[in-house]
Amino acid sequence: MVDFPPLWASFSAQLEGLSLPASFFPQVEVYLAGLSDINTSLNLISFSTEEELRGHVVDSLQMLRAGPLSGPLRLVDVGTGGGLPGVPLAISRHDWNVTLLDSTRKKQSAVSVLLERAQISNAVALWGRAEELAHLVEYRESFDGALCRAVGRFSTVLELTLPLLKVGGSAFLHRGFDGCDELAEAGKALAELGGRPGPIFSYKIPGMEKERHIICVEKARQTSINYPRRAGIPAKKPL
Ligand code: SAH
Repeated sequence: MVDFPPLWASFSAQLEGLSLPASFFPQVEVYLAGLSDINTSLNLISFSTEEELRGHVVDSLQMLRAGPLSGPLRLVDVGTGGGLPGVPLAISRHDWNVTLLDSTRKKQSAVSVLLERAQISNAVALWGRAEELAHLVEYRESFDGALCRAVGRFSTVLELTLPLLKVGGSAFLHRGFDGCDELAEAGKALAELGGRPGPIFSYKIPGMEKERHIICVEKARQTSINYPRRAGIPAKKPL
C-alpha cells in the first residue's frame, strides 16, 4: 500500500490506485486552506471538521474509479459551488481541462481566486447557468465528460448535463444512497435527452454514514434543441 500524507491516512483505501501525481497533495492543501478561509464569509461547502472537508475531496476523486478514462479530456463541472468535484479532479489529471460552472457570481469568483492560489492552470471558473451555456455553439455537445454533485434531482441534473456532452461522452453523476432507484425512475428523461445508462460505481467514504454512488450516463444520440428548457424549468418541472 502507498503511504499517504498523515492527514489523508484515514482515506487510504479510497485513495489507493488512483494514480495521483506527486503534486496532488501540496496543491490540494493550498486549495483546501483557501476554501476554508473563504467559506467563513461565503457558504461554499458545509463541513464541521477538517476530516469532513477532506472527505468531500475523496468523494470527488471517486469518479476516477467510475470510468476507465484516459486524457486529454475536456470536462465540465455543472454547479461546482466551491469547486467540487472539478478542482480535485483537475489536480489529479493534468492533461484534463476542466470548466467549473456556477450560476452564482460570488462562487465563481471565489473559485477563480482558489485556482490562482493553488496554481491550477488546467481549470477555469465560468459564471453562468447550464440552461444558457448549453445553447451556445461554443459549449453545446462539446465536452467529453460532465460532472455534477449535489445540484438537484436526478432528472434535473440529466437535463443540465447531457446537452453539454458530445455524442460518445459520459456524465459522472455523484448521487447519494438512493442513486440506483433514481436511475431506474429516470428512464424516460434519459431517453428523451439522448442518454443511456452506463455503469454504477458504489462506495463508502469514512465519516459519511451512507453508501454513495456515481451513476455514469452515456450520451448515445444528439439531444433535441428543445433541451435544456429555459433557466429554472429543469428544476421546477423535472422531466
Ligand atoms: N457541486 C458542489 C456544490 C453544490 S451546491 C458540491 O458538491 O459541493 C449547488 C451549486 O449549483 C450552487 O453553487 C448553485 O449556484 C449551482 N447551480 C444550481 N443550478 C445551476 C445551474 N442551472 N447552472 C449552473 N449552476 C447551478
